[in-house]
Amino acid sequence: MIWITQWLCPRRHCVIAIAWDDQEMTAEEAERRGEQAFTQGIYRWCGICGGSLHVEHGRTKFNTMEKALPYIKAIEQANLRARSIMGVAGFD
Ligand SMILES: [Zn+2]
Repeated sequence: MIWITQWLCPRRHCVIAIAWDDQEMTAEEAERRGEQAFTQGIYRWCGICGGSLHVEHGRTKFNTMEKALPYIKAIEQANLRARSIMGVAGFD
């Protein structure tokens, strides 16, 4: 199954997310990979509301990454558009 691990604030704004296949890694490994992002300049708090982050692992409805990828890419594009709007509004 395909899972998604997210770093969320209390208001559920997602700072980073990783999709992973449980045939290839464990939740702990996914979490370690995500933690690396915080060593590369991503803040450990929400840029929208300032809340601290927690980690959640959730199983998707997809059983292969091939099936999940179109949905993941669509969400990624929507988030990038929202981020650009937030930047224009001064939330960078
Ligand atoms: Zn937030």
